[in-house]
Amino acid sequence: MPNIDYPYMPPDRHLKYVPVDHPFMIEASRAREECAGDSLYPVGIVLVKEEKVIARAGNGFNKGPGEIHVCPRVVLDVPSGTGYDLCTLHDAPGHAERMVLEQAARLGVNPEGADAYMYGHWWACEPCWTALLKAGIRDLYVTDDAHERFSRERVYEETLSPSIKTVSLEGFEEGLLNQVREVFKEFQLTEQEKEADVHCAFTSEGVSCFLKGEHHPIYLIPLSDKLVSQLRNVLRQL
Ligand SMILES: [Zn+2]
Ligand SMILES: [Zn+2]
Repeated sequence: MPNIDYPYMPPDRHLKYVPVDHPFMIEASRAREECAGDSLYPVGIVLVKEEKVIARAGNGFNKGPGEIHVCPRVVLDVPSGTGYDLCTLHDAPGHAERMVLEQAARLGVNPEGADAYMYGHWWACEPCWTALLKAGIRDLYVTDDAHERFSRERVYEETLSPSIKTVSLEGFEEGLLNQVREVFKEFQLTEQEKEADVHCAFTSEGVSCFLKGEHHPIYLIPLSDKLVSQLRNVLRQL
């Protein structure tokens, strides 16, 4: 293994590694696809005991997969590892490790002595390690290339491009409109009058973004000189 600088590692434990095609890592990757409610940085995890998967979950598992989450940490461009208080999905209780322990409790299976296989991330934070060790988990496995495969840059490259196609705008003044249209060009979004995938309305409070058919904004960007870059960061998460 290359020398990796981990943001956290418990004093008496270390991650373990398996190749990406290890059978339980494949199970974890399936859990990532099917269980992760975090579309931005999806992580899947399985607990394995006596060669059997006893519990599976993803991060944001309680939210369920396929839900759109506009993360304030991404909108505001906060540095890696900071600003967790800004987001209720990305705080520690929503992490895959905690979610799978909860799921084990719900299923009535004892996680003690089980191994955890995690796909979608390259390290575990302190609250997660603490929870895993307290639950008696034996080892936490990631893929042997996880630090590259699941680096923030690599993951965001995949997840941070919009799946929406059309946007409608309301109340934007000319100068701002031109800047916003540059963002549309970058993401190949088409501006249309109405019935667009997303509607962005400029008001005295800021820009409210509505998904089609929804009456509550998915995000409100307050007025500031970062308005356009923040709108760009909202759109790329949709
Ligand atoms: Zn978030
Ligand atoms: Zn964590």
